[in-house]
Amino acid sequence: PQKGVTYKRVLLKISGEALMGPQGFGLHPPTVQRIAQEVRSVHALGVEICMVIGGGNIFRGLQGSAQGMERTTADYMGMLATVMNALAMQSALEELNVHTRVISAIPMDQVCEPYIRRRAVRHLEKKRVVIFAAGTGNPYFTTDTAATLRANEMACEAIFKGTKVDGVYDKDPVKNPDAKRYDRVSYDEVLQKNLGVMDASAIALARDNNLPIIVFSLDEPGGFRGILSGQGTYTRVH
Ligand code: UDP
Repeated sequence: PQKGVTYKRVLLKISGEALMGPQGFGLHPPTVQRIAQEVRSVHALGVEICMVIGGGNIFRGLQGSAQGMERTTADYMGMLATVMNALAMQSALEELNVHTRVISAIPMDQVCEPYIRRRAVRHLEKKRVVIFAAGTGNPYFTTDTAATLRANEMACEAIFKGTKVDGVYDKDPVKNPDAKRYDRVSYDEVLQKNLGVMDASAIALARDNNLPIIVFSLDEPGGFRGILSGQGTYTRVH
């Protein structure tokens, strides 16, 4: 990495909803392109980047099952949604000349590569952005858990969780103007106070492996790059 950049390898987790832009559903290509630019600017610092993208902009297993679908089938549909998002991000990144590989936890050879850990590591060493798709490949999990799992497997130094706000607050900052942002907060406090950073199993998996989670705003242009260069506001969960 360039001078002043303290991370060598990170995982960026974004929700599917981050890709829907002003729409209420699905993919908004200009928004995907904007996020791809943010990723490219960090890639240009020499940082190795993994990504996990959710699927909530297209389909969530819990929503399907609440409406009468069988839960595991609905969860597989959610995992497939993450593959569509991963392909959209790959396309936007390659448009910017950033070599990218999509790796799916559920093999679908014509579409992307299957998950083979050593191969994914090799892609990172060759400075390709690796997008992990289809979550963990198992129902009853989320892409937050997938992000923590892959970040551990790839030996990332931190998970960067891009959200709409610039960190973790003691209450919802959108509804409460007096909400206070934490600079640092422990995994246990996040769990006890249910601070809504990621789901509980993802937080526990990060805690048990000492993997810090950096919560920051993805809406802030240049924000991702800024934090990697030691600037900007964010919350470090550790
Ligand atoms: N999913 C799953 N196993 C996983 C990851 C995801 O079953 O390991 C399914 C689950 O139904 C989930 C959907 O995929 O609702 C989309 O993922 P998620 O809700 O994490 O997306 P996000 O909220 O980040 O957009």
